[in-house]
Amino acid sequence: MPLTLLRYGLSGKYPARRQFTETKPLKRHYDLVIIGAGGHGAAIAYYLAKYHNITNVALLDKGYLGGGNTARNTAVIRSNYLTEAGVKFYRESVQLYQNLSNELDYNVMMENRGQLTLAHSDSAIRSFRWRAEVNKHLGVRSELVDVQTIKDLVPQLRISDEARFPIMAGLWHADGATARHDAVVWGYARGACSRGVELHQLTEVTGIKTSGNKVTAVETNRGTVECGMAVQAVAGASSVVADMAGIRLPIHSFPLQAMVTQPYKPLLTPHVSSPHLHVYVHQTSRGEFVIGGGSDPYPLYNTRATLDMQESLAAATLELFPFLAQAKLMRQWAGTTDMTPDYSPIMGKSPLDNYYLDAGWGTWGFKATPISGQTMAQMIATGNTPDLIAPFSLDRFYNHRLVNEAGATAASH
Ligand SMILES: Cc1cc2nc3c(=O)[nH]c(=O)nc-3n(C[C@H](O)[C@H](O)[C@H](O)COP(=O)(O)OP(=O)(O)OC[C@H]3O[C@@H](n4cnc5c(N)ncnc54)[C@H](O)[C@@H]3O)c2cc1C
Repeated sequence: MPLTLLRYGLSGKYPARRQFTETKPLKRHYDLVIIGAGGHGAAIAYYLAKYHNITNVALLDKGYLGGGNTARNTAVIRSNYLTEAGVKFYRESVQLYQNLSNELDYNVMMENRGQLTLAHSDSAIRSFRWRAEVNKHLGVRSELVDVQTIKDLVPQLRISDEARFPIMAGLWHADGATARHDAVVWGYARGACSRGVELHQLTEVTGIKTSGNKVTAVETNRGTVECGMAVQAVAGASSVVADMAGIRLPIHSFPLQAMVTQPYKPLLTPHVSSPHLHVYVHQTSRGEFVIGGGSDPYPLYNTRATLDMQESLAAATLELFPFLAQAKLMRQWAGTTDMTPDYSPIMGKSPLDNYYLDAGWGTWGFKATPISGQTMAQMIATGNTPDLIAPFSLDRFYNHRLVNEAGATAASH
């Protein structure tokens, strides 16, 4: 062992500086309890601590930091949605992502790669044209492109009239990107913990105590914690946790699967998706091809991977990229996606005075991590709902003001 390494190991500098809170007893009371330490919970904690000086906060997770859907997602970041509310919201998030490594002083490995959604029918072309116009109007780079442009953008794609569903056009979104999911949640949590927020892993919320119209405490497997306010950010368990507070959410939970191949040399830059074939593909900076699609067709809380999904994703991938026929699959996994009727999130105040909802993130919540953290923190700190998230309130389901993003979400995430 080199002498310098030995000296370092024996010195006071070792072990290296702790990034997160060391495990210690829960306090009796916090100003705010955040239930769920995924990207969203960590981002809310970060923006509250840094920009609103609210640090008497406990960030609780039944598992480990970022071990839920944040760990399982395929990291697609984009803003080419369909509704005005959706496009504005995700546009801001993509912009925050662009500066996130600087903001957190942590490399989130942002890769601006562009996103191409394929049209295999006249009706898809019509809806892509509509989306492109809405996007451009709101300052998002999005355009309908022809087959020749698709060939130039992604020469590896199989474009043939012989295909089962020939590619007829595409929606090109130059702002499409990916980032490293673990780095995003670690960066946010590190920034929050360094400002005084306490992260408590292996701390499951098992009940929520209320008095009058307020939450007074949360019960956990490590004891009861009183709180001035609470927010739930538990994608995959939104309705379960809301139910503890006596709140019913219009959510059904479905497994969502993905898989990766062995690494290849870099050859595919954009993210390519085909809602028609229910598949999307991109290549990571490690060289693996990430392959995903739509949710499983039945509601379930189990996160197992299935052979039939593997087969259907593989078959659809080979229709687009036949050269992957020899690729070996390295891993396949699943998460739980909380689907709302309009494929938009539920954010903001709840029927309880001091309880907030960051829920219904379905297959699309990773890209929203920065903006949901920022806006939820603003609302918790000021009591006012930011304009950007007002359309996503729970009461839209009672007022018939849905934000329908079903078509713009599909298999593209
Ligand atoms: C396969 C797959 C691919 C995806 N691809 C994309 C994509 O490309 N782009 C995109 O934008 N989105 C994608 N998503 C969706 C995205 O992953 C989620 O919307 C996002 O990660 C939600 O973040 P979160 O922080 O709200 O939830 P999570 O990361 O799930 O964090 C919630 C945390 O709450 C904790 N928790 C739950 N119940 C309790 C309790 N009772 N007490 C304490 N803690 C609790 C969990 O342990 C978990 O750590 C994908 C999802 C999956 C499954």
